[in-house]
Amino acid sequence: MAVPKRKTSPSKRNMRRSHDALSAHAFQECSNCGELKRPHNICPSCGHYNGREVVSIGA
Ligand SMILES: [Zn+2]
Repeated sequence: MAVPKRKTSPSKRNMRRSHDALSAHAFQECSNCGELKRPHNICPSCGHYNGREVVSIGA
């Protein structure tokens, strides 16, 4: 099995990890209830999407 000849230096390791950071999720206000929701997802608090109720929440 092929094995790396040298230990990866901290500099090379950190260069590799420069693309690993997670970004914060996007949020926007629900047009029906005003709660924050993720774009292109139904609102988890009222079940609306694109101006109509898609999923009924609770009672
Ligand atoms: Zn909503």
